[in-house]
Amino acid sequence: MRSRRIVLPLAVTLLAATPSASVASGGAAYVPQAGKLSTRSGGSAPPAARSSTDAASGAAPRYRDRAAAQRTSRERPVRGRSRRPRGRLRPRLRPARVVAFNISQQRLYLGGPALRVSLRVAGRGGPWRVELQASPAIAGARTAAARSSIELGVARANRDLAATVTPEALSPTGGEVILRPRLATARGARVPLANLPAVAVRVLANAFPLRGPWRLPGPDGRFGAPRADHRHEGQDLVAAEGTPVVAPAAGQVVRVAYQPGGAGHYVVLRDPRMRRDYVFMHLRERSITVVEGQTVATGARIAEVGSTGRSSGPHLHFEVWVGRWRDGGRPIDPLPLLETWARNEGLGPDAGR
Ligand SMILES: [Zn+2]
Repeated sequence: MRSRRIVLPLAVTLLAATPSASVASGGAAYVPQAGKLSTRSGGSAPPAARSSTDAASGAAPRYRDRAAAQRTSRERPVRGRSRRPRGRLRPRLRPARVVAFNISQQRLYLGGPALRVSLRVAGRGGPWRVELQASPAIAGARTAAARSSIELGVARANRDLAATVTPEALSPTGGEVILRPRLATARGARVPLANLPAVAVRVLANAFPLRGPWRLPGPDGRFGAPRADHRHEGQDLVAAEGTPVVAPAAGQVVRVAYQPGGAGHYVVLRDPRMRRDYVFMHLRERSITVVEGQTVATGARIAEVGSTGRSSGPHLHFEVWVGRWRDGGRPIDPLPLLETWARNEGLGPDAGR
């Protein structure tokens, strides 16, 4: 009968110190949990390689006494990596099954909150090193170079493994990616999966600034529309009072102020990545949840739509400045950006969320 020894790395060393502890059973040797062995192991441990040499000899381990054999056989065996001698076929790893694979959200923003991933693996063997493989969902982009693997941690059988992954790790420039878990042994050997779960997430570079239904107003609300003493420096978006206003990009709040005869309650957000300032005006009284100097994540709520200042009804006046707002920068037409952001989020006028 050929003895196949299945051990954990720590157990190997401990086993070498107490060679009588292994139990032959059905052609495979099991090692009790390392923690239980450790109380009985003393002195210096021989090199771990010795135990695999032992296994290579093909001889079943012997016990010093019957009591030791009975004691260890009652202990729960732990199966780990197969350690067969070199020169033979590579060990056939037992397939594992991912019985739960959950993500916190399907839409992520660069500069926004991290994705929370939890999964549970069932099967004999383990612990397993778990990676999350992210592949672009675009046809033709499924190349190894475009794929990225993110270490999630070590999973034990039937226990939840929870991890967080930044949107940048999933897709540095944004896009749709398919996420699949991959399992490996502690030494990196790929463990086959009996099932192949996958989920799709969308990583967006920017958030549309409104979370709720909106529509474009008439020509008077367009960028550049003439006013009595100046030109309209932003784009108006009509939305109900109280509609949440969110940060289109991660950045720092550089101004929170009130201008009774004009902007009303307003906020200026600086986006260092794009070197742009975003301005939000006519915000609802007491709805602003950020303060000057605060940094915000992409998609973070900053205020609500209102009608403060010189305004004829609830709407968001939104400006985009290349450079600094009223400090060397210049305003640009926000509409192309707004249309792109809305399209990327699957939001159209009158169909926001
Ligand atoms: Zn306006």
